[in-house]
Amino acid sequence: MSLQIYNTLTREKEIFKPINDGKVKMYVCGPTVYNYIHIGNARPIIVFDTVRRYLTYRGYDVQFVSNFTDVDDKLIRAAEELKISVPEVADKFIGAYFDDVDQLNVAKATVNPRVTENMDEIIAFISALIEKGFAYESQGDVYYRTKKFADYGKLSQQPIAELQMGARVLANDLKEDQLDFVLWKSAKPGEIFWESPFGKGRPGWHIECSTLARKYLGDTIDIHAGGQDLIFPHHEDEIAQSEALTGKTFANYWMHNGFLNIDGEKMSKSLGNFITLHDVLKEHDPNVIRFFMLSVHYRRPISLSDVTLNDAENGLMRLRTTYHNLDYRIQSVEDDFSDAEHKDEWLEQLTELKMQFEDEMDDDFNTANAITAFHELSKRANIYLTRDYVSVTVLREFYSMMRLFAEVLGVRLEDTSQVELQDAEIDALILERLQARNERNFARADEIRDLLKEKNIILEDTAHGTRWKRG
Ligand code: AMP
Ligand code: ZN
Repeated sequence: MSLQIYNTLTREKEIFKPINDGKVKMYVCGPTVYNYIHIGNARPIIVFDTVRRYLTYRGYDVQFVSNFTDVDDKLIRAAEELKISVPEVADKFIGAYFDDVDQLNVAKATVNPRVTENMDEIIAFISALIEKGFAYESQGDVYYRTKKFADYGKLSQQPIAELQMGARVLANDLKEDQLDFVLWKSAKPGEIFWESPFGKGRPGWHIECSTLARKYLGDTIDIHAGGQDLIFPHHEDEIAQSEALTGKTFANYWMHNGFLNIDGEKMSKSLGNFITLHDVLKEHDPNVIRFFMLSVHYRRPISLSDVTLNDAENGLMRLRTTYHNLDYRIQSVEDDFSDAEHKDEWLEQLTELKMQFEDEMDDDFNTANAITAFHELSKRANIYLTRDYVSVTVLREFYSMMRLFAEVLGVRLEDTSQVELQDAEIDALILERLQARNERNFARADEIRDLLKEKNIILEDTAHGTRWKRG
């Protein structure tokens, strides 16, 4: 089977054909770095890292670009609140971002360009749009002339007339039309700014992705991706900017992941119903998070709860147990009973399972069904392991196929959850618990107590402080 990708642009699954044989140019919209990312934000990160892994597995050389929005209103506000500069806010949360996603086994992007390091290119892009009549200056701002781009609305499949009717009429006489969107914002007094031909200011959000995708990948890219909420207006606006400038198709395949929900609602910063990835990782094995995210097809909603996380954990544990047992048996088996007839049957079964796994991944990266094939592999391995006489070749084949599937999904089968806490880590947690209590943050204090309990550390609060021992 050939690889098929569901393309938001056509609302159909299409056979994937990259621009250049053997190469894939992929751009994923990255985070605005003003805060820790939440576990909903981790979904596109894990999903598109898996897409990249599978493309690599299929033999493609993938160029993967993902930006950091390191200046915008939210960063400016965060800088005021934290009493540090905007670049310091960005550095802090880019650092935090890598700490988190590295644990999730997410491969480093080919490039993670930052907006503030590409200001000249962004300004040049805007100037070119002005020259072509697709943008205009207005009192220090620059706006995109939306109605001039005939294809506007093609990604979100909304005719421009409909958008026009739905547009809120605001008293903003800076714009010629309500559908126009900002490319450059003039700086308010005291705000961070860059010099430009249009005056002191900073870029709007959409222009950075058009500029950075073009700079690092070229006028036309293969895959552009992000969460469903980016379809409109962000990706629609990116298309308008890029295609107006180059006259070429901006991206051939548009991929969008569904939302991660909590209690039936989209997890989002604005709703306040979010849990940071940073906090989730304190309590859960990152491989479980990753396995959980991939347990549902990426376009469907996924619901986060103790039950769903637990299911993922149990599923991964089952695979790990089989993997461990295979390893043990390979090490300890003394005679290789390569009973030829049966051996070939088992090896044939294994080849079929591999094809099944690949077919599922070829079907628009259906990781949910690929995981079912993974469980089937594990089930067959368990059956094989009950035999008294085994062929080491078959065992090895089971073992390496488990590794292969795990590698494509990006989960580790080596169980590290049993690793004991070091003494210094325990001391640090106890200190943190004490501080939490002093700040009357009892929730955090209880959380630490529970974590230590889980690791079998017994706490004793005495008049001379807290003592601990291993249970
Ligand atoms: P934001 O910080 O809101 O710009 O989001 C960064 C990325 O995370 C974008 O690709 C969003 O579409 C995606 N995203 C945000 N919230 C969720 C969610 N609850 N579920 C899945 N993806 C999300
Ligand atoms: Zn973008």
